[in-house]
Amino acid sequence: MKIGVLALQGDYLEHAQLLKELGVEAVYVKRSEQLREIKALIIPGGESTTIGNLISQMGLSQAIVKYAEEGNPVLGTCAGAIILAKKVIDRVVGETGQFTLGLMNIAVTRNAFGRQNESFEATVYVEDIGEVRAAFIRAPVISDAWSPAKITGYIDHPAIGRVGVAAKQGSLIAISFHPEITGDKQIYEYLISLAKK
Ligand code: GLN
Repeated sequence: MKIGVLALQGDYLEHAQLLKELGVEAVYVKRSEQLREIKALIIPGGESTTIGNLISQMGLSQAIVKYAEEGNPVLGTCAGAIILAKKVIDRVVGETGQFTLGLMNIAVTRNAFGRQNESFEATVYVEDIGEVRAAFIRAPVISDAWSPAKITGYIDHPAIGRVGVAAKQGSLIAISFHPEITGDKQIYEYLISLAKK
């Protein structure tokens, strides 16, 4: 089986490495034709305005939307979760108006935990998956979800309280954190199981 990792900016090499460890062939997706050969797509963490601008400039937007609407699994992690969201909020400036694919009925708040040096690791219970070891790096939170999307994981953070960090809508999954940094394979195993359906 082949799974694609959107390879425009961010953590795509680390995701590809974990897929390889699970016996899956990783495809570095840069062109829309490559979507035809993959059974699922990962949109990695990185910088969401940069990734969004590159998706748009490289003409990948329509093809990824079509790919997701056909029911193919798509996992967005951190900046990738922002790219999947309909609405993006910044703590200071409000709605950012940045480019996203708008595939999931979720609102995300960027950089919700503060600066880079406030990055942390935590164990998160994610519905359908279980307890996952997660790294949060200038992470967003999933501040709202409306049908058919649903928040599937929360953390209790000492500074900002109980916040959503995972969401699902059909075979689309958004997570605020980086599984490729802790090396926890459960999210990938779940994505592979969806891709096999
Ligand atoms: N803070 C980044 C953004 O808003 C996301 C960080 C990440 O992907 N680790 O784009």
